[in-house]
Amino acid sequence: MTLSCSERLQPDLQSLITPLDLPLYRHHGLRVAMLRLDRIHPQISGNKWFKLRGLAERLRAGERPAVLSFGGIWSNHLHALAYLGYLFNIPTLGLVRGNAGQSETAMMEDARRWGMGFVFLGREQYLRRQDDDFLAELKECYPGWEVVPEGGSDRQAVLGCREIWQLLSGSEWASSEYAVCALGTGGTLAGLIAGKPETTRVVGVPVLQLGAAGPEQVASLLESAGVDDPGGWSLAGGGDFGGYARLPAELAAFLIRFEARARVSLDPVYTAKMVSAFHRQVQEGFYPAGSRVLLIHTGGLQGRRGMQRKVEQRAAAFNGPLSV
Ligand SMILES: *Cc1c(COP(=O)(O)O)cnc(C)c1O
Repeated sequence: MTLSCSERLQPDLQSLITPLDLPLYRHHGLRVAMLRLDRIHPQISGNKWFKLRGLAERLRAGERPAVLSFGGIWSNHLHALAYLGYLFNIPTLGLVRGNAGQSETAMMEDARRWGMGFVFLGREQYLRRQDDDFLAELKECYPGWEVVPEGGSDRQAVLGCREIWQLLSGSEWASSEYAVCALGTGGTLAGLIAGKPETTRVVGVPVLQLGAAGPEQVASLLESAGVDDPGGWSLAGGGDFGGYARLPAELAAFLIRFEARARVSLDPVYTAKMVSAFHRQVQEGFYPAGSRVLLIHTGGLQGRRGMQRKVEQRAAAFNGPLSV
């Protein structure tokens, strides 16, 4: 199986755009749809397909680098990288936050099956993953290995994610007034900003507490990709729910309720937080009546396997009001 083959099997536009008709949206005069990047590819799911596109193209052109990268034990990025390594038969290595004694997650089992090796980094070491001296040590330990940053966010990722808009060509949603997307390391949002039509405003929802570092991160990714910041974008608050991968009962309940009403699966780390922050903005009147809003489903459903029971338990414990 080759990547170009699975690309040709890419789902058609209609199956990639799911119109969402919830009372909340009607009440505020909005038209809302979701772009289903979760349906792009069964393994390289969601935004990671676009983030790794630069690497995929080099592999397709015949390059055979060995690639190492970083992530958590449920990392969607490592999962996608491992599969790409399997497709093109290149060595891949995941530097994972955790300790060697811990049991392997389903993500790691998949990735191992696809040939990825793992090295565990303790908390302290993992914190140094972007430091120059740590990267220099890595180069010594793994001579010749190419290092992809955590989450795959580099210049290539921005240029790859810029292509997300091409999925929409021929659709009225290509010119929607707003596009909303989760933000982790920012490569996806920077790509969306880089490729957006002039009249579309892009809203990013940080899923961890970034504060002022959020916009700076996006701006510096744009710069590294050689893209002039076109403006017309902002970050929404209220999506971090206390930190990365935190799952308070309200978020769990929101996820379950939204899935039942909209019939779209979300992951608790990124897309549920994105939709929840979007609903809050809607209630606050951020979006003028008559607007079309495109929510970007960035995938991540493989990672949900690790939190399914927690989602159900916490959701059952919540009995407050929900904005869905
Ligand atoms: C990695 C990931 C993101 C975050 O993308 P960034 O480019 O790091 O901001 C969003 N959603 C899902 C499902 C992801 O796996």
